[in-house]
Amino acid sequence: MTQNLAATVPSQIRAVSGHPAGASTPMEVWQGLSAAVVDAIADDWYATEQKYRAGRMEHYFSAEFLMGRALLNNLSNLGLVEQARQALGSFGQNLSEILEEEPDAALGNGGLGRLAACFLDSCATLDLPVAGYGILYRYGLFKQLFNDGFQTEHPDPWMEEGYPFVLRREEAQRIVRYADLTVRAVPYDMPITGYGTRNVNTLRLWKAEPMEEFDYDAFNSQRFTDAIVERERTADISRVLYPNDTTYEGKVLRVRQQYFFCSASLQEIVDNYVAQHGTDLTGFAEFNSVQLNDTHPVLAIPELMRLLMDEHHLGWEEAWSVVTATFAYTNHTVLAEALETWEISIFERLFPRILEIVREIDRRFRTDLADRGVDHSTIEYIAPVSGGKVRMAWIACYASYSINGVAALHTEILKRDTLKDWYAIWPERFNNKTNGVTPRRWLRQCNPRLSALLDEVTGSDAWVTDLSVLADYVDAADDTVLDRLAEIKHANKVDFAAWVAQREGVEIDPEAIFDVQIKRLHEYKRQLLNAIYVLDLYFRMKDDPSLVVPPRVFVFGAKAAPGYIRAKAVIKLINAVAELVNNDPVVSQILKVVFIHNYNVSPAEHIIPAADVSEQISMAGKEASGTSNMKFMMNGALTLGTLDGANVEILESVGPDNAYIFGATEDELPALRETYDPRAVYESVPGLKRVLDALTDGTLDDNGSGWFADLRRSLLESSHESADVYYVLGDFEAYRQTKDAMAADYADQRAWQRKAWVNITGSGRFSSDRTIRDYAQVWQISPAPIA
Ligand SMILES: *Cc1c(COP(=O)(O)O)cnc(C)c1O
Repeated sequence: MTQNLAATVPSQIRAVSGHPAGASTPMEVWQGLSAAVVDAIADDWYATEQKYRAGRMEHYFSAEFLMGRALLNNLSNLGLVEQARQALGSFGQNLSEILEEEPDAALGNGGLGRLAACFLDSCATLDLPVAGYGILYRYGLFKQLFNDGFQTEHPDPWMEEGYPFVLRREEAQRIVRYADLTVRAVPYDMPITGYGTRNVNTLRLWKAEPMEEFDYDAFNSQRFTDAIVERERTADISRVLYPNDTTYEGKVLRVRQQYFFCSASLQEIVDNYVAQHGTDLTGFAEFNSVQLNDTHPVLAIPELMRLLMDEHHLGWEEAWSVVTATFAYTNHTVLAEALETWEISIFERLFPRILEIVREIDRRFRTDLADRGVDHSTIEYIAPVSGGKVRMAWIACYASYSINGVAALHTEILKRDTLKDWYAIWPERFNNKTNGVTPRRWLRQCNPRLSALLDEVTGSDAWVTDLSVLADYVDAADDTVLDRLAEIKHANKVDFAAWVAQREGVEIDPEAIFDVQIKRLHEYKRQLLNAIYVLDLYFRMKDDPSLVVPPRVFVFGAKAAPGYIRAKAVIKLINAVAELVNNDPVVSQILKVVFIHNYNVSPAEHIIPAADVSEQISMAGKEASGTSNMKFMMNGALTLGTLDGANVEILESVGPDNAYIFGATEDELPALRETYDPRAVYESVPGLKRVLDALTDGTLDDNGSGWFADLRRSLLESSHESADVYYVLGDFEAYRQTKDAMAADYADQRAWQRKAWVNITGSGRFSSDRTIRDYAQVWQISPAPIA
């Protein structure tokens, strides 16, 4: 590919803005440069699509794709960063500043959506015939602001000013029918470039539109509101991403959304099969497989049954054998509340035919399992329909040829616990696919200084597409390399400090330890444990002014689901602690607390390269994998964590000398719980009483919300089972000791850099390229390069 951005960019900017490049706003420059990039890949994109269509394809269905920004990712993949820099420079624009104009495509909540985005990147880089399918939400995840330290939520209309990286494909639209509504599904395709390849894969995002743009009949016959109501009901389907990943509201709309993108995507896939291979659909699964990213797309299972039987005349048995060879299911959580179940009444209202099919799946399931000698209570427990509910995870388990967890420990817990009845019957379906993250975005692009060092030490950029090569250089770190590593981290911290000062108005010292916890706010992730530590440290310093404490900056970033009050209370608490610490004339010389508002992919790219410590402190057994732990590791931060999710494998990879592990393990917890008395811990562990009392004695102000008292109660109430469910107080002492020791170790900079180097070079298995190569075996697909 020979590109000449110097020639194309000015004219694209002119086309977008209507005036010369030099007289355009930064937003217009971003638009024009982005349009030039899409233009540059158009032919290869088309060629890739043609090539994939003819062969076997994997289709990745996900309600969430947390893509972040696209421009730098594409420039970097295509090797056009320098050209773009020069092209913009010729009319006085700075590429780094233009890149900051881009809104994040935040079509996801957190880890699950970001995983889908990393997977697409790896699939394209590996030339694998994989397409993503989801929803073009008009409003991505809400924008978070703080008001008096309280989270407030605001709409994020990410496409409003135009977004060159999706292309409307009018001709590929499909019709999706509900009992009470019929809509058009119009695809918007996003090109997914890979690193150092010409293949360009596709993420297809569906937008709901009315059958007719406007109902003139209704309008003319004075039924104005009917015309508008119908249009709004349709627009609702792709209006907003659900911000709750744990509790469910607007259930009918959510089910409608799920069916919407599953139906439209499957119609397209089936149509393509017919175009390529004819009308006999019995061979469908030889050419197509669908990965279900959690239970949100599980309606695809009955929908494919419907398409095969009702539109392509297969019998039940034939259709079922196609379906059960098509779907694979990824479970993402052991939290019971996240295994979706829907009232039967919702199905009755939206799609009686789908309900009929689900009931027939259920009927046959019960017979099938009874024939296998499974006892009645187990059958009732895992039946697709029971207790007035449709249970999406059980439909997925029954119909899928593969069921996977997302880290070794998680998969073990699924087999032993969450899905044990399924494992007993179909052990061969179960497999583990430990998550990964793309080293392009999470190292190459976000940390150019470290990338340059890795290029130098390894002699090439081969690590960018094969991160495991770094393992060969674990012993290559002589003093020169470690000095360089220290300089790089320091320079990243200086950049980050400037970014924080500008964005959050807090001054931080690059010489301090940057200790970071960024992830969705959830009780199981235990941001509260971290906050308690900070508050305890503050009191220790107040008590004893001679106490030697290494300077530290505690960085938080997290959004709470809008209806999740306790999570919002933790946000308010961290902000209150920040206020206390940052305004103390003595303590603030040593400690700072920064809450980065509106945490998202782009902020993560600024934060992670500057981190020294990666906080991964969930209660053991609760975090399925975690992926920010991997991003941190790649950038040389050391993990402070529990033996949970992928932390277990990180520890395996770097060894106990290069990670800081603490706390109760997953198999210790049940026994500990039997005698666990949080009140006794509160009374006996030095410092805890003072910290918890500070929540209610006026030290910290919750503006009369009563939220801090509730937090305190949630930890101490021992009258019932629900006291300190996430073992915050139980793990506190171990956490404090480990974290103190870790901070003390930082003083030996050389030893610290050595550990950082071991983490960087040991991060190979946490590349999403490794994960996707593993999936490709399950999917039975192989690379299909166009050139
Ligand atoms: C990686 C990532 C996550 C996942 O973080 P965990 O710590 O694994 O929960 C969430 N949000 C964003 C923006 C991310 O980049």
